[in-house]
Amino acid sequence: TSVKLDRIIPLGSATLDAFKIETVDSPTKDSLVSGQVLVRTLYLSIDPYSRMRLSESQGGAVPSFVPGKPIDSFGVGIVEASTSTKFSEGDLVTGSSFLWETRFILSENNITKVPSNADITPANYLGVLGMPSFTAYVGFASICNHKAGETILVSAASGAVGQMVVQLAKARGLRVIGAAGSNDKVDFVKSLGADVVFNYKTCGSLQKAIKEAAPEGVDIYFDNVGGEFLDAALDNMRMNGRIVACGNISQYNVAPETAYHTKNTDIVNSKKLTLYDFVILDYYDRPVYNEFIDEVSAGFKRGDIQYKLDEVVGLENAPQALLDLFEGKNFGKRVVKVSDL
Ligand code: NDP
Repeated sequence: TSVKLDRIIPLGSATLDAFKIETVDSPTKDSLVSGQVLVRTLYLSIDPYSRMRLSESQGGAVPSFVPGKPIDSFGVGIVEASTSTKFSEGDLVTGSSFLWETRFILSENNITKVPSNADITPANYLGVLGMPSFTAYVGFASICNHKAGETILVSAASGAVGQMVVQLAKARGLRVIGAAGSNDKVDFVKSLGADVVFNYKTCGSLQKAIKEAAPEGVDIYFDNVGGEFLDAALDNMRMNGRIVACGNISQYNVAPETAYHTKNTDIVNSKKLTLYDFVILDYYDRPVYNEFIDEVSAGFKRGDIQYKLDEVVGLENAPQALLDLFEGKNFGKRVVKVSDL
């Protein structure tokens, strides 16, 4: 099976007809040229940034998908054949450009070997040790100058990035306020140790909900959603506060005519706020990557860190699994299972 982009779609609400699902011949080891591997896909990572790649590039960090070509994303798989000296049959591998296909061929430069570790399931190389979890680590632990005792607000707090920010912040002695879009998600974020969690869809005024949760104001806002929530957070920031501009999911699937434009930007100046912007792909070859792997795998093994995966079965369901993110239908880090180990 191969999931391809059928056509570039406009910004705005995406539908399944952006995708084309085809039955194709699987590549065989005879098709390999030097330095390539044949990979069987185990899991694919379903991430919000893929929505932007369905439309014309807006000049962001990743290019649009190409019509007629397979979609790609982070993934984890098994090497079935190799002409590379770096990989052998049976190796568990991961990478950021896995094709949405059952089997595919990649250059040895596009994958890395996953160390065999009985505590980490293959799906969790996209989960607790995956890209969004690393994003939480870089955005919170590494760049926002947090201090114990400060108050942090986290939006999309039950999601792939958010659930890890909540736990890292609690472990470092911050007071954590989470926001999530259902009562089950609120309960989950509380179970991770957050001090106050509210349902942003039913709370009425966002400004008031944040104010009630943080009467003294917010020191750090970890922004996963942008839009109206960012404005409400800006209203509640303390002097010298910091905003980790991680993502804007509320705006990825919205047409330009209805896009929300942040209004409270003057507060950045009047409250002397600092905005940290980052793209996680820039951090994989820095020392912080090994720090993340060491700290988070040890915490996960001890049981101090939890990680909620949301698994959808079947490659043919990957397009819907992606569109669901924009309606909050995922609960935890969404992955698609393509085949068994
Ligand atoms: P999630 O696992 O959190 O899934 C998306 C969640 O976002 C949904 O479940 C939903 O949760 C929430 N959501 C959807 N639409 C809206 C909306 N209109 N308003 C508010 N919340 C909404 O996704 P990730 O954790 O993978 O990603 C979180 C953010 O981090 C995204 O913006 C993403 O682009 C960004 N990111 C940035 C990276 C970087 O390099 N800077 C790298 C990776 C991710 P709920 O039910 O609670 O509303």
